[in-house]
Amino acid sequence: MANFFKDNDDLQYYFDEGVDWDSLVRITERDFADADGEGFATTEEAVSFYRDIIEMFGEFVAKEIKPYEREIDANGVEFVDGEVVFPERLAGIFDKIEDLHLHSLPIPRELGGMNAPMMVYFMNSELMARADVSAMAHHGFHAGIAMAAIVFSAIEGSSDIDPKTGRIKETRWQHVVSEIASGEAWGCMDITEPGAGSDMAALRTVGEQDADGNWTVTGEKIFITSGHGKYHFVIARTEDVDPDDPMGGLNALSMFLVPAYEEDENGNRKRIVQLSRVEEKLGHHGSATCGLVFDKAPADLVGKRGEGFKYMLTLMNNARVGVGFECLGLSESAYRTALEYAAERASMGKTIDRHEMIAEYLETMKTEIQGVRAMAVTAAFHEEMSQKLALSIRYGDLDDAARAQMERRIKSHQRKARRITPLLKYFAAENAVAHARACLQIHGGNGYTTEYLPEKLLRDALVMPIYEGTSQIQALMAMKDTLGGIIKNPQRFVRRMAQARWRSVSSRNPLERRVAQLQSLSLSAQQQLVLKTAGDKVKALRGKPIAEWTDELTKNWDPKRDFAFAMLHAERLIQLLGDTMIAELLLEQAEKHPERVDVLERHLERAEPKARYLHDQITTTGQRLLDRLSASSPEMTDQAAE
Ligand SMILES: Cc1cc2nc3c(=O)[nH]c(=O)nc-3n(C[C@H](O)[C@H](O)[C@H](O)COP(=O)(O)OP(=O)(O)OC[C@H]3O[C@@H](n4cnc5c(N)ncnc54)[C@H](O)[C@@H]3O)c2cc1C
Repeated sequence: MANFFKDNDDLQYYFDEGVDWDSLVRITERDFADADGEGFATTEEAVSFYRDIIEMFGEFVAKEIKPYEREIDANGVEFVDGEVVFPERLAGIFDKIEDLHLHSLPIPRELGGMNAPMMVYFMNSELMARADVSAMAHHGFHAGIAMAAIVFSAIEGSSDIDPKTGRIKETRWQHVVSEIASGEAWGCMDITEPGAGSDMAALRTVGEQDADGNWTVTGEKIFITSGHGKYHFVIARTEDVDPDDPMGGLNALSMFLVPAYEEDENGNRKRIVQLSRVEEKLGHHGSATCGLVFDKAPADLVGKRGEGFKYMLTLMNNARVGVGFECLGLSESAYRTALEYAAERASMGKTIDRHEMIAEYLETMKTEIQGVRAMAVTAAFHEEMSQKLALSIRYGDLDDAARAQMERRIKSHQRKARRITPLLKYFAAENAVAHARACLQIHGGNGYTTEYLPEKLLRDALVMPIYEGTSQIQALMAMKDTLGGIIKNPQRFVRRMAQARWRSVSSRNPLERRVAQLQSLSLSAQQQLVLKTAGDKVKALRGKPIAEWTDELTKNWDPKRDFAFAMLHAERLIQLLGDTMIAELLLEQAEKHPERVDVLERHLERAEPKARYLHDQITTTGQRLLDRLSASSPEMTDQAAE
């Protein structure tokens, strides 16, 4: 019997060795406070349950979804009388998921869920995406939104949580969570508008409050995945834009929860938010991508006015990690489809997997999937730990010392999650496209026909670098955090460079030396970017070593204006950062588990020459284009664009 978990050694490695389950179980089981009731008494007991779930789901997706992925793609979803209608096959799949209670997998036990860590949910997402990404995307908007409702309520202080046991006695959107947990409803995240996607400061939808304090939302949203769902977290403008806002207008946004329709006891639906359209798309056909019109739709303000961006980041960080796992599923499907085909297709006296170039394609796909999985599991771990610890510190009964220690742990997890999440989203998405493309190429002419799977995988993959923040936006985030960190603390950066250089020549472990060389190249490119950036802004700094910079430099930076050179090279930088991060994670694994040396070596063989090339590009190119851009006035550029 096919099983997408049991046939995947790399994923099983993470399950068995690569996840700090003890920390995740303790925080999720609140130090086994429910052991006398339905909870687990030990980490082993909990992990054995998680394994049962994943193994069961691995078989479910292989049997119930994978054989029908072409059918799901061909049928899509329909838009009938202002509502989305799922074809019988897809609806049946979701009914079965509901029967297995898997919509409620990470929802706390006391709210009707299975109380599993998000890590288990994410691993399941990879398995489902390998069967069909569009079905997985829709599935992700069930528990993902319920968890956001729970976390938002806890952050804004509207939950009643027992400080001893961590049990949620009451939470503001309990009805939302119960409906989602039972599979009755699901939700979505409404940010994008016709005139604003990446540029959130340009959003036009408004939130308005009447004299009685009630809120409504008015405006138009587009491209909303599962937008036909009931519960919408909507970002809308509530404040005038302050020209001095260092966040460039983002502080004018607020987050709302808007129910899109009501139903009476007979299931008759009255829409409050109208569905204007369902997009005809290149791929992702089993997922509804909706346009919505909000006309004074009653809404709950989440948190305080002007805090929308903060809440959105919480939601989006999780969603980006989710997309990382989704991309992994697609890449895994592309790799295995290509592997199987190449082992059977003969050319010039041997099967094509024996031809050197094709063998290299296949090995590259495998290596990149393993690298992305290392990042995905690490990002998921730190994201979940930081969020759950942050909740427990809010409600826990802690003395000062315990609180201080907890705060340090939270900061450390937050820092790591923030560093790795854009790298994961970028690499996972770009690789998914590259892997689907390689899969198609390996299929030759067959790959270009609709009779074979690769064209569907490629169509599905192409959206990955676009949604949940485009690849370019991930690159900008990583670049701003990296350079911002150096400018804030130049001395620490200089120390890191010195340490990497020292390890690259002195370490006894040759693999550690190679990883340190990669780090050195990445740091050297960062140094070049920061020296050029700072030198352009503060003439006095030209030619001055970073170690001699003073506090003065940390003031009055405007990333939009001052980082032009770094913005040009942001995508090159993120590739350096990501390859280095993967090497660091794989080195850690190889030091503990010798069987992981092979994947590290495969990764380094690819990352090292690529890093030299990227470093060269960053240090020698770009000025010509920047000069041309600054010589042409914005008006001219606009005219040229027209
Ligand atoms: C299938 C699908 C599902 C989606 N689901 C959702 C959803 O559930 N909820 C939701 O809110 N949205 C959703 N979206 C919208 C998606 O998040 C946006 O399309 C995406 O954020 C990009 O915004 P945009 O389309 O307006 O492109 P733009 O922002 O106009 O970007 C166009 C291009 O310019 C680049 N660009 C923009 N600004 C910069 C910059 N400063 N520097 C360099 N390059 C830049 C972008 O990277 C991109 O390549 C979905 C989209 C699709 C296609």
